[in-house]
Amino acid sequence: MSTSADHTTGTITEGKTVTDRLVSANEHYAAAFTDPGMDARPVLHVAVVACMDARLDLHAALGLNLGDCHTIRNAGGVVTDDVIRSLTISQRALGTRSVVLVHHTGCGLEALTEDFRHEIEEEVGQRPAWAVEAFRDVDQDVRQSMQRVRTSPFLLHTDDVRGFVFDVRTGLLREITPTA
Ligand SMILES: [Zn+2]
Repeated sequence: MSTSADHTTGTITEGKTVTDRLVSANEHYAAAFTDPGMDARPVLHVAVVACMDARLDLHAALGLNLGDCHTIRNAGGVVTDDVIRSLTISQRALGTRSVVLVHHTGCGLEALTEDFRHEIEEEVGQRPAWAVEAFRDVDQDVRQSMQRVRTSPFLLHTDDVRGFVFDVRTGLLREITPTA
């Protein structure tokens, strides 16, 4: 029986999967948890759109506490139609007014191209409906994301939209200006 992490099968220790580990962590969490009695509307009226990168601890990096914000994450922190869907609900149903975009150094999307889709199509016989949204210039990608939010006809609040690159080595955010 393996006692070390095996990333191919998700086995962590003695037959327990990673999900088993998370479920038991939740039991400890719930034991110490008290109902904060919060409303679903984010206290700081902000939605943060960020990459799913495992090195980005968004709440810690931005000093956010439970209940403060909406967190919307995907590969690259790309403003896709589905992110616009979430932002629209965030603003129209749950009262957020500000949008913060966080991309980061060393993003996996910099290593991909749209060929990724074609390779998948060749393998499975079906082309994904989504774009990979690969990029070469992270600053420019943040600008494009800001532009997509600002020009969305569905959002109520597009005046406070700011974009940043998080440095995974220093933990610092660098703000990106809307125009290069
Ligand atoms: Zn990333």
